[in-house]
Amino acid sequence: MKTQTTQEQPVELPLRLDSDPQPVPGCALCDNVAMERDRAKANGDASGVSDCHVRMRRHQEGTH
Ligand SMILES: [Zn+2]
Repeated sequence: MKTQTTQEQPVELPLRLDSDPQPVPGCALCDNVAMERDRAKANGDASGVSDCHVRMRRHQEGTH
């Protein structure tokens, strides 16, 4: 009568969830995103900042 439940894995959060990804020196694309992020920060644009974080992380995972 027991229904089997799938066992859920413990959620592992990345450690660097809140830290800013750092631009790689000499990479124009990193630099570009970092500049956009600074601009968004200056404008108080939190969603723009996190958007840049996502873009930089994705780029660094793929390219670096
Ligand atoms: Zn880069």
